[in-house]
Amino acid sequence: MMNRRELIRLATLSAGLQGLSSGAYSQVKPKGNPFKLGIASGSPTADGVVLWTKLVTDNLLGYSNAPIEVRFEVANDENFKSLVLQGTALALPQLDYSVHQELRGLQADRWYFYRFILGDAVSDVGRTRTAPALGSPADKLRFAFASCQHWEHGYYAAYRQMVADNPDLIVFLGDYIYESATPRKRTAGFVRFHDLPTATTLDDYRDRYAMHKSDPFLQAAHRAAPWIVTWDDHEVENDYANDLSKHLTPIPEFLARRAAAYQAFYEHMPLPASALTRGLAGLGSNDGVRVTQRLRWGQLTNFHVLDCRQYRDHQACPPPGKSGANVVQANQCPALFDPNRTLLGKPQEQWLAQGLGLDTLQGAASQAMPWSVIAQSTLYSQFDSLKGSEQRFWTDGWDGYAATRQRLSSEMARLGGNNADFHPVFIGGDVHHNVVATIKTDFNKPESKAIATEFCGTSMTSFSGFKQAEMDGLYGENPHVAYMNSEKRGYALCDVTPKLWTTTLMGVDDITRANSATRPIAKFAVERGNKTPVKA
Ligand code: FE
Ligand code: CA
Repeated sequence: MMNRRELIRLATLSAGLQGLSSGAYSQVKPKGNPFKLGIASGSPTADGVVLWTKLVTDNLLGYSNAPIEVRFEVANDENFKSLVLQGTALALPQLDYSVHQELRGLQADRWYFYRFILGDAVSDVGRTRTAPALGSPADKLRFAFASCQHWEHGYYAAYRQMVADNPDLIVFLGDYIYESATPRKRTAGFVRFHDLPTATTLDDYRDRYAMHKSDPFLQAAHRAAPWIVTWDDHEVENDYANDLSKHLTPIPEFLARRAAAYQAFYEHMPLPASALTRGLAGLGSNDGVRVTQRLRWGQLTNFHVLDCRQYRDHQACPPPGKSGANVVQANQCPALFDPNRTLLGKPQEQWLAQGLGLDTLQGAASQAMPWSVIAQSTLYSQFDSLKGSEQRFWTDGWDGYAATRQRLSSEMARLGGNNADFHPVFIGGDVHHNVVATIKTDFNKPESKAIATEFCGTSMTSFSGFKQAEMDGLYGENPHVAYMNSEKRGYALCDVTPKLWTTTLMGVDDITRANSATRPIAKFAVERGNKTPVKA
C-alpha cells in the first residue's frame, strides 16, 4: 500500500514517470470514449488547481489491475497552440481509475485550458483558473453556489445559465447525489427515473455518481470553472449523523458503508490527494477522507469549507424508537442546548475559529481578509416554524446544535469587536429554499448585535418541503430573516468586491424541461462591515 506522501508524489509526478519500466502500467487502448464521465478542476490556489477525470474501463481494451498513464495538457488557449504544461497523470486501480492531477507553478489570477489524452482518445476541453496571489488585493470575484440535485426531481437546466453567467468559481455545498432508489410507485412530479438500487456498497455509489455525471449540463458546469466542494447527508444516507444511520444500522456496518461513500465522493471530485488523510492505506477506514479545507482568493475572500456530517453528535430528541432528524418544540428538547453536543466536532470548531481569527489580522505582514466565507451544507440562522411564543426547530441543521452555533457566534462577535470590518458570510444549502438573513448574537433578541450575513441557497432540483404561503407567515417568528423563497429551484450568483457583496438568487422557470430558462428572482447586497442584507 502506498502511503500518503507516495500518493501525493505519484499524483503530482509527470516527466519522471517516463523513466519507469513500461511493464508497470496497463497498456490500454480506448474503444469508444473513456472520458465520458467528463472532466473537472477544483480547489484552486494562487499557483495551481486539481485536474480531474475518471476513466470508464468498459471503454478500454487491455487493461489489467495496474495503473494507467493518462496524458494531460494545460494551455493558454483552447486550441492548445500555446502549451503551458504537459505530463502524465496516473489513473490508479485503487481509486477506480480516477485521476487527480495537482498542478503547481501556474501564474496567479489566470485562466487556463486543459484536456486529457489516452491513446487516440481526447477528452473535452475544460477551462480553469488560479486564484489571485495571496496578499494581492483582488478587485472582484464572481462565484456561483449550489446544492441538492435530486435526479428524479428535475433537470439540471440551471447549470446552463450558470455557465452563461461565466463565474470564476463554482461552490457545491452537498447532496451532489441522492443515494435512494426511485420509489416503485413513480411519485407524481418526478421527471426522470433510474433503476439503481439504494446505494450501500462502493460499486453502488460509483454507479450513482456515473449516473449523475451523465448529465450534459452538469458536465458543462465542471468544464466552465474550478469547483470547491463539500458534502451533506445524501452522499451517504439521508439524515445520517457521524456513525449513526437513521435506520439504526449496526455501527460497524454503517461505518463501512460511509467509508465506501466517502471514497466514491473523492474518486468523483476534483479534490487534492491531501483529502485522503492517510493515502491509499486509509481507504475503507473511518477517517480516510477529509473535505474540510481553506481556500483563499487573493486578498478578497477566504473560503472556510466545512464538513457538517462526519464529526457531528447524533441528532437531539429523535422520533420515538428511531434515530435521525425530527421537528421538535424547543421547550420539550433540552438536549438542543446541551453545550457538550457539537455539529462540527471540537477539532473542526477550533480550526474554524483559528482561521477566522487570522482573517481579522492587520499589520505589516498580513492584511485582513475583506470577506470570510463559511461554506457549509445547511442553514445557520435560527428558523422557528411555529407561530406564537413557543418555538419549533428542525434538529438536523444548526438549530439542532444550538451550543455549537453559540460558541461560533460568540467567537465571531469577539473578533468583530476587535475589528468592525470583519465580515463573515455564510453560504449553505440543504433546506431546498432560499433564505437571506442577518446573523445575530442572539436570534431571540432582535436588538442584539449583527455579526454575520447568511445566504442559504435553494436546491438545484430537489423538492421543497415548504409552501410559500406557510413561509410568508413565518417572518414574524424570524425577524432576522430578510427573504424566504421555496417556490424556485436554482442557484445563487455572488459578485464580490472589497467593499460590496451582491448575491443574485437564480430561479429555473420550469424544472421539468431540460432546456428551461433560468432568471434572477431576487438580489441582495451587503456593504462590508454592515451585516444586514438589503434588497438590491
Ligand atoms: Fe438535499
Ligand atoms: Ca414561535
